[in-house]
Amino acid sequence: MIRLTLLIFFSSFVFTLFAQSSEVPKSPERAEGSGPYKQLIIQGVTLINGAGSPPIGPVDVIVEQNKIKDIKVVGYPGVPIDEKKREKYDSDAEILEAEGMYLLPGFIDMHGHIGGKSQGTSAEYVFKLWMAHGITTIRDPSAGNGLEWTLEHKKKSEQNTITAPRIEAYSYFGQGSKSAISNPKMARAWVQEIAKKGADGIKFFGARPDIMEAALSEAKILGLRSACHHAQTDVAWLNVLNTAKMGLTSMEHWYGLPEALFTDKTIQNYPLDYNYQNEQHRFGEAGKLWKQAAPPYSEKWNKVMDELISLDFTIDPTFNIYEANRDLMRARLAEWHSDYTLPSLWRFYQPSRISHGSHWHYWGTEEEVTWKENYKLWMTFVNEYKNRGGRVTTGSDSGFIFQLYGFAYIRELELLREAGFHPLEVIRAATLKGAEALGRDQEIGSIEIGKLADMIIIEENPLQNLKVLYGTGAIKLNENNEVTRVGGVKYTIKDGIIYDAKKLLSDVKKIVDQAKEEEEFILKQPGIK
Ligand SMILES: [Zn+2]
Repeated sequence: MIRLTLLIFFSSFVFTLFAQSSEVPKSPERAEGSGPYKQLIIQGVTLINGAGSPPIGPVDVIVEQNKIKDIKVVGYPGVPIDEKKREKYDSDAEILEAEGMYLLPGFIDMHGHIGGKSQGTSAEYVFKLWMAHGITTIRDPSAGNGLEWTLEHKKKSEQNTITAPRIEAYSYFGQGSKSAISNPKMARAWVQEIAKKGADGIKFFGARPDIMEAALSEAKILGLRSACHHAQTDVAWLNVLNTAKMGLTSMEHWYGLPEALFTDKTIQNYPLDYNYQNEQHRFGEAGKLWKQAAPPYSEKWNKVMDELISLDFTIDPTFNIYEANRDLMRARLAEWHSDYTLPSLWRFYQPSRISHGSHWHYWGTEEEVTWKENYKLWMTFVNEYKNRGGRVTTGSDSGFIFQLYGFAYIRELELLREAGFHPLEVIRAATLKGAEALGRDQEIGSIEIGKLADMIIIEENPLQNLKVLYGTGAIKLNENNEVTRVGGVKYTIKDGIIYDAKKLLSDVKKIVDQAKEEEEFILKQPGIK
């Protein structure tokens, strides 16, 4: 998440990070999935296409190799499919019977750190959690395990020699540079260097205006995209509106947006004993920030929003990663931790003056209430941004603050719903909008003829209850008054290869069980005897 922010400012730490990067275990060769097939027919499914169309079914979706070849409506709900009217498919076609099930485009996680040394996570662990939740594309914002490592995995994923989502590799600004970038010339040279290496974009945390401008303009020339977490250390120089005008293509989280909406100040109202290196200060004061901005639907608020939209600017809110701030117990006690959170990751989440995002030195009612109010103002902005035609995407930023890969992405969908998105708007934000922001909407992001076969198949209707997308499913009482679990993605299809999503999840549980066994770990809450 923001650990790197600190590193940027102390180049010696950057080198430490670099030295460590080679130690993060690489993903093993793919042992999962079947296909791609000469012809695959997904029969009788209900389609949610990701472009905002309402569900329609039953349809047959025809996939050849890794591409969607055709989509055919084959009947009406509640009426048996008339086999005589169904087209004759190749006799050796692979048939996936999916009547009563739902088909969606694969999800795009726009803020997907692949974990690493700090979290003690392997690539296999993270990739399988993502794939088990239908995530078929991720944007790694900052290539935390090193750009070479990330590009290597990107390539292997492209070739499907590993079980992993497609990877868009963004290098954090200055990554791999021998010394801190201190002038525009160095900025341009660095951008050229990572473009040559094959990076897809740049992740910024802010910079001095002349340096930022040079980097963004060079990125534009070379066709690289960009993301920025407007860190408080640099936001007094440039807020979101300033960077968007310079050509930044997307913003992460929310920092820099309230600052663009100030009317009676130019700097956040920091208490005078504030220290950015104190994580409780940092997150506690951030919770008071939206209240310092122009109120919803005021002149300034409208003007900034409309200007950002006119710049075709993308907002990637990552609501979930701050959720512990408004409800710490919910995040800590999430039901998946016991089976799917690695001991090393669990330890990383705990309060500490050193670990980033582990700021619960003393986090109480006052902090949570403040953050609940912060969320309301933030969500109002994001929902209206979407209503006026602005692009909002879905990113998770997992691996920090009790948010687990895959699971946290589904929570993000729920929070977009809470912000006011219709479930169809939520799915579109998670699919087509992400593809647009990556510049890949001609290939992925919706179920359309000619696009790549990246799909999710699930037995429950996710529009009715987004919770069915959690790997642990949703709780439902059946007709016999028995408590059952429904949902969980059934199949994740990437490039025409069908993965059993539940099997991927059980692989993750095995990894976790083994790690627990090795150190006789029992997951328990800290500070309780
Ligand atoms: Zn992040």
